[in-house]
Amino acid sequence: MLESKAEYTQEAKAQAIPSAGRRGERAAPKRLVILGATGSVGRSCAQVLAGAPGRFEVAAVAGGRDGAALARTAVALKARFAAIADPSGYAALKAGVAGQAVEVAAGPEAVVEAALREAELVVAAIVGAAGLAPTYAAIAAGRAVALANKETLVCAGGAVMEAARRSGARILPMDSEHNAIFQAMGGCDAAQIVKMTLTASGGPFREWSAERIRAATISEALAHPNWAMGAKVTIDSASLMNKGLELIEAHHLFGMPASRLAVLVHPQSIVHGLISFADGSVTAGMAAPDMRTPIAHCLAYPERIDSGVGPLDLAATGQLSFQQPDLGRFPALGLAIAALSAGGGAPTALNAANEAAVEAFLAARIGFSEMARVVETVLDQSARAGELAACASVAQSLAVHHIARDRALALLA
Ligand code: MG
Repeated sequence: MLESKAEYTQEAKAQAIPSAGRRGERAAPKRLVILGATGSVGRSCAQVLAGAPGRFEVAAVAGGRDGAALARTAVALKARFAAIADPSGYAALKAGVAGQAVEVAAGPEAVVEAALREAELVVAAIVGAAGLAPTYAAIAAGRAVALANKETLVCAGGAVMEAARRSGARILPMDSEHNAIFQAMGGCDAAQIVKMTLTASGGPFREWSAERIRAATISEALAHPNWAMGAKVTIDSASLMNKGLELIEAHHLFGMPASRLAVLVHPQSIVHGLISFADGSVTAGMAAPDMRTPIAHCLAYPERIDSGVGPLDLAATGQLSFQQPDLGRFPALGLAIAALSAGGGAPTALNAANEAAVEAFLAARIGFSEMARVVETVLDQSARAGELAACASVAQSLAVHHIARDRALALLA
């Protein structure tokens, strides 16, 4: 009874709006691959997809180690293929999709296989350097990629952008600042831009003294005032390393030299990026601090869909304020700026050392301020050992990454 009523309603709808079929005649839904489907960005992605029924189809999903969560995601998104990077999660993944038409596989190669499934857009949202291989594979194969994994460009930006040029792969920035900048650029050439500014909320320690920051606990560092994100990026946001990584990301994505990139602290997180032109004009990319907005923009690009984020209420926000970042209290940002200016393998080593340092902080093995000291020491050691030459390939970048990571692990031991 209920079934037939539902059928009747759908049919009636189709007859009542004869143009609906034709207007929705992007005919086939856009096929997606979601790498990092169980993480923070992946979960927001699923929310946006739920709000746009019939518009997208999920060819494949990939996750890190939580097989049960990946199985739930694969079933909910009707994905055809689910790949788990860590084989220890395979049994739970397989059990979770029992009776469903989902193919499953495990291991880093399986994640690359997911990245290469036929799709119109690959969402690259695996955190850390682990996302590099599958993201690079998708770009080298000419797939359009929505890039949420900033470490891909920080670790191997030169090789990845060169691969995109060769294959013609389009890279859409899903990181909120870069997405705002991309929209604020309005298609203009990087050469016309005098200054590109990324904003930073300042994180939970924006007003803390250096002494207080030094003694910060894990839970204090994880308490971001504006954004709900994964642990790694939240810690990076507290140290401002995140903004440093994003400067390096912007340098590669938009071809901007370090000298024309800037950071402004903006506690309200409403303006995410600013573009300054020679004539004095400035365009701003604005949105509520909610990842669903840049996600929806990338998923539907060049069209627009409802992201589920309410309209921006500037009167309710009241004030937008800006200040210079304090590199004294937040040395990580200064280290990243120096690595960007130094170029070569410096950003790769910075990122690798930082990943190891953040892991150690989250495991309560070092204090908050020691993270920057580890990064600085690794960069010094690597430079003196002549390990920071420019990387022409992803393999070379990964070699620099592993050497720097080993140096960091030795310091942390
Ligand atoms: Mg960001």
